[in-house]
Amino acid sequence: MRTTLIALAALLAPSPALADTLIDNINGVQVDADGKIDRFAAILVGDDGKVKKIWSAGPKPTGATKVIDGRGRTVLPGLIDAHGHVMALGFTALQLDLTGTTSLADLQARLKAYAEANPNARWILGRGWNQELWADKRFPTSADIDAVVGDRPVWLGRVDGHAAVANSAAIQAAGFSLNTQAPSGGRIENGLFVDNAMSLIESKIPAPTPAEQDAALEAAQQLMLANGLTAAADMGTGPEEWAAMNRAGQAGALNVRILSYAGGIPGMRAINGGKPSAWLYGDRLHLGGVKLYADGALGSRGAWLKQPYADKPDTHGLQFLSDAQMLEQAKAAAAGGYQLAIHAIGDAANAQVISTYEKLSATYGKDRRWRIEHFQIVDPADIPRLKPAGIIASMQPTHQTSDRLMAEARLGPDRLKGAYAWQTVEKLGIPIAFGSDFPVESPNPFPGLAAAISRQDMNGQPPGGWLPEERVSLAQALAGFTRGAAYAGFAEDRIGSLEPGKWADFIVVDTDPSKGAPALARTQVLETWIAGKKVWEKPPSPAGAERGR
Ligand SMILES: [Zn+2]
Repeated sequence: MRTTLIALAALLAPSPALADTLIDNINGVQVDADGKIDRFAAILVGDDGKVKKIWSAGPKPTGATKVIDGRGRTVLPGLIDAHGHVMALGFTALQLDLTGTTSLADLQARLKAYAEANPNARWILGRGWNQELWADKRFPTSADIDAVVGDRPVWLGRVDGHAAVANSAAIQAAGFSLNTQAPSGGRIENGLFVDNAMSLIESKIPAPTPAEQDAALEAAQQLMLANGLTAAADMGTGPEEWAAMNRAGQAGALNVRILSYAGGIPGMRAINGGKPSAWLYGDRLHLGGVKLYADGALGSRGAWLKQPYADKPDTHGLQFLSDAQMLEQAKAAAAGGYQLAIHAIGDAANAQVISTYEKLSATYGKDRRWRIEHFQIVDPADIPRLKPAGIIASMQPTHQTSDRLMAEARLGPDRLKGAYAWQTVEKLGIPIAFGSDFPVESPNPFPGLAAAISRQDMNGQPPGGWLPEERVSLAQALAGFTRGAAYAGFAEDRIGSLEPGKWADFIVVDTDPSKGAPALARTQVLETWIAGKKVWEKPPSPAGAERGR
């Protein structure tokens, strides 16, 4: 694998330029330091891969400078996904894809085909089903899976990653039965394992080999580059994942930039000797934070709510940590010099995390850029607490378009005021970072940018946008996927805009982003450049195989 990675790196990296490179005649669009759209026509890139100068007009350098004619095409800074799962993206690409299944029968048919195509897979792993898209909305059971595959373990995750169904062989291989008691913070129903119960099975799945890890990382990088992502925050890096990222970095095969957040306190202690890392491999890898969880997700009713679920009044969802536990874990990370990124979906979880950060800010000061991941369902009374405590809202626009109907069902109409409240957050001056939560959603950032300005999905639904007062401007949306995402990763002096001294990470696309949401959502990436080198180009023939789902 090492040899393959080196060969691939050699293939992708053009020989070093002997002079500065002028990328001229482009329709450049980015967000300036004041949050306004800034248009530019040329970029001068130094031999070190960093921007030397950008021009909107005026005389350009001559002489030793190599000139590339951009032919008037649109150029954006490389987009940054502020919340993704890099290795999971790669493994998902290599696993059984169940996104968009229209019924249980559809899921069963895809499982059967995959099992036949992969006779040697010890376990069959899949992900992406969503019973909300099925006519009867019934969760799948062990018996449903046994009917298709009985000879090997099968483990199929829900689209949000907060529930999975196991067949009997998987439950048996893990040493459990259908009557096994779920651990606290989890639930087991007819072979459906929810939130904390999932680890009962997951901990027994044979670990991927280093070669499988390397293949997954390479698959993830290709998907990111093809979708115009030059960097991503990796939310919950594990020790083996960190090792794979370092192998790629050492082999010169790490193209994208990964801002790593260790998975929990055990992950923090297991990675990099228990300390944040330096910026490694030409700023392509950095461990700067720790990811914790306050609750589960809304789809599986694991999000922790202040009031009971509207569609299941006997539950408030799942609280993962007591206030004391959360504070203790957060303090352990903060004292070690880490940034914190805490997952909070429900309004009770968000309130708990805000209170935790308020206490931390009193001890550690405010420029620690505490992050709340998702910040999805929030009590409007709690939102103004973010700015004084120096908290960043890290949100995923495509979650809103995917979750809209489900959120209405879970919360009822009266509790949607602080849901996916991007503009409310903007107006309060709270820093925003946008992402996709890939592979929960497609890594393609363009539907996210379009959702941010329209509150509509790819099909223009609903007309006029969902809670349209929460739309943001194009500049705000673009900032969320560039400057804002860089700031949220303490990387704004390196990436997030094309300015002198920052890396020349940029993408060439087929559409000017100001053309409106429907066109923006369908934008195609033509080329992806990192550190002044072209590392991906759209294949000439039948368009778009690599693009997101
Ligand atoms: Zn996530």
